[in-house]
Amino acid sequence: MQILVAGGAGFIGSHLCQSLLKDGYRVICIDNFLTGKKANVAPLLAHPKFLLINTDVSKPLPEALIEEKLDYIFHLASPASPNSLSPLSYMNLPLETMDANSLGTRRLLRLARKHKAKFLFASTSEVYGDPQVHPQPETYWGYVNPIGIRSCYDEAKRFGEALTMVYIRRFKLNARIVRIFNTYGPRMDIKDGRAVANFIVQALTNQPITIYGQGKQTRSFCYVDDLVTGLKKALLTESSKGQVINLGNPEEFTVLDLAKKIKRATGSASPIKIEAMELPEDDPEKRRPDISRAKKLLGWQPKIKFSRGLEKTIAYFREKLANEPK
Ligand code: NAD
Ligand code: UDP
Repeated sequence: MQILVAGGAGFIGSHLCQSLLKDGYRVICIDNFLTGKKANVAPLLAHPKFLLINTDVSKPLPEALIEEKLDYIFHLASPASPNSLSPLSYMNLPLETMDANSLGTRRLLRLARKHKAKFLFASTSEVYGDPQVHPQPETYWGYVNPIGIRSCYDEAKRFGEALTMVYIRRFKLNARIVRIFNTYGPRMDIKDGRAVANFIVQALTNQPITIYGQGKQTRSFCYVDDLVTGLKKALLTESSKGQVINLGNPEEFTVLDLAKKIKRATGSASPIKIEAMELPEDDPEKRRPDISRAKKLLGWQPKIKFSRGLEKTIAYFREKLANEPK
């Protein structure tokens, strides 16, 4: 069985590639290293069943790839960080983000149809926008600002979902959509800018931990190993065919609590600093997945406690920062 992972050199994608190889699959990873790094998959390069191809999913795909026999396709290729201060943020890569989720999704759906491969589109909890329904079930249509600073991502993902549904309805493609909620773990980029990465880096380097808004907004964070188990179940089991499924951890706390947990777990003396009283534009006030559907269809729920996941993530960043060129 051969599996294509688009965006496989990114944070989540590299864990997914590693796990699929461990399960015995052949894995082709495609990535243009826009926000991911070759270093994320460097340990896999020597594996006889792993192939890395540098290509952009929004441009014509290499012939060699089109000729390969593919059984499954994961589409994870897209910037994902909303922090405008990060060079990796979709806000600083708006056209690339829109292309990867529109043109890129179209190319990969076409490829899936040609190979009769099963397909998974990695969507996001951002399709719910600043949700007015809490927690968010898949049946909620969302509350998204279509012209705001987050819309290049939110609307591109919503377009990717619509396109995937067209292939399901019109061509009977065996496809599914997974809405990923906040995920954290080793291999997040130091410059990623998302809350968990930012707070850990700030705590470990004795800089103030920067809270946007007053820190009363909530999130729920899923450890990457749990998410990868969910992604694999979602593509490799038939029960998810034609479905939209939330994947995330329903344990919810405020951003201020997150900062306190990270400060405590790192033993840092960094002050917790309210950067601005107002939340950034269109920043959701609350977010928590309803995962009833994932439980029912996939028999999946997260297993890793936040304290354990945090420990592993902090260990990763500690080592990374120690080896950073000064
Ligand atoms: P990431 O930036 O680490 O990974 C994305 C990968 O896609 C990178 O390696 C990047 O180089 C690659 N990529 C981007 N555009 C590409 C293109 N045009 N062609 C080929 N490769 C391209 O981000 P991540 O956190 O690992 O997210 C992976 C996927 O999961 C994304 O689709 C993201 O929208 C989705 N997601 C992630 C989270 C999260 O909390 N991490 C939450 C919701 C959704
Ligand atoms: N956040 C923060 N300080 C930071 C980074 C993020 O207060 O240095 C906040 C951000 O405004 C949001 C929450 O933490 O309310 C989660 O942000 P993240 O970037 O992780 O992803 P999001 O859930 O917004 O997609």
